[in-house]
Amino acid sequence: MSILITNIKELLQVRAENVLKVTGNQMNTLPSIKNAYILINNDTIVDFGSMDDASGLEADQTIDATGKIVLPTWCDSHTHIVYAGDRSQEFVDRINGLSYEDIANRGGGILNSAKTLQNTTEDDLYSQSIKRVKAVMKLGTGAIEIKSGYGLTPEAELKMLRVTKRIKKEFPLKVKATFLGAHALPLQFKDNKQGYLDQIINTMLPQIAKEGLAHYIDIFCEKGYFDLEDVEQILSAGKHYNLIPKIHVNQFNAFGGVALAVKHKALSVDHLEELNPEDIEALKGSNTMPVALPSCSYFLSIPYTPGRQLIDAGLPLALATDYNPGSTPSGNMNFVVSTACIKMKLTPEEAINAATINGAYAMGISNQYGSITKGKKANLIITKPLSSYNYLPYAFGDNHIDQVIINGEII
Ligand SMILES: [Zn+2]
Repeated sequence: MSILITNIKELLQVRAENVLKVTGNQMNTLPSIKNAYILINNDTIVDFGSMDDASGLEADQTIDATGKIVLPTWCDSHTHIVYAGDRSQEFVDRINGLSYEDIANRGGGILNSAKTLQNTTEDDLYSQSIKRVKAVMKLGTGAIEIKSGYGLTPEAELKMLRVTKRIKKEFPLKVKATFLGAHALPLQFKDNKQGYLDQIINTMLPQIAKEGLAHYIDIFCEKGYFDLEDVEQILSAGKHYNLIPKIHVNQFNAFGGVALAVKHKALSVDHLEELNPEDIEALKGSNTMPVALPSCSYFLSIPYTPGRQLIDAGLPLALATDYNPGSTPSGNMNFVVSTACIKMKLTPEEAINAATINGAYAMGISNQYGSITKGKKANLIITKPLSSYNYLPYAFGDNHIDQVIINGEII
């Protein structure tokens, strides 16, 4: 089935095939075609250009996009969208004055989510998770990374990854899976961290590799969670199974995790709310993508990733949601793009680049996703009529999307 979209006010993020990410001051450019058309055939972008050259084009279906903007769907490179239950009670506890630490000490936090998930069947976990997947697709997300890490036992971690595999099979959006066994220390290993690391390395990893359940390996590198030695162990073990690192680092403390991730050729380093000059130096000249998660900063009232500083240092930046029940119960990339402009002082061009092509890079899929390029996947957002694309981040909190096409399918 072919779809022709005509009279597009502006077609954004038009890129040559070999552009896999944009870096530094290139991020402030968003190549576009005004008064444009785009033609897709099944799951692929086959042609686009100016309406002046559109005569003679035919398709099974034509969409008139007069006044509307068309751009690639969002690429959300960091989520924990597969989870059970929610933590709205902890949210209220925090409003009433309890700290994150108080809540964790009472058995809340990640361990709370893990307990709920362990007691949820695979089918139930699937049906809870796909409600969120359907919702984010409607909000324009066409590719998503999904982490495990709310299981914390071999059975429950595998359950999460199997649910992720099922989502990958059943939905048109692109899914990449990440194994995050080292997300927190389970209660039964409270005084035996090495015991848990051994379980990850000797029990979980071989099974995950055998079933082909993950592409990436992640670890929460943070004081009170996992230190640099643990990161070294886990990433080295992952390498043995060809799992590329993407790590949680510098959310609350900066102590060398970024340089270590770069040394292990991490595809991305995520969070970076705390950043020091050594981290920026470590990232220069590397192939590692820094990823900011502004909805998490918003929800927890912690500092925003200094994205301006990263871009001004000549580095690339990606934006993602961190969708999870504890610190970001939202998968709305439109809000992320707005918040990056409002709070991190990114320009709309930088934020859109960060949420499309660079997000795709942070999932290892920017050869197929993240830009309007012939041969790439037909993943498109068609907005409502807008004065300009600046309106997208400007009028925050509203839904400006009219239609979403994912893998050639109108959602
Ligand atoms: Zn996360």
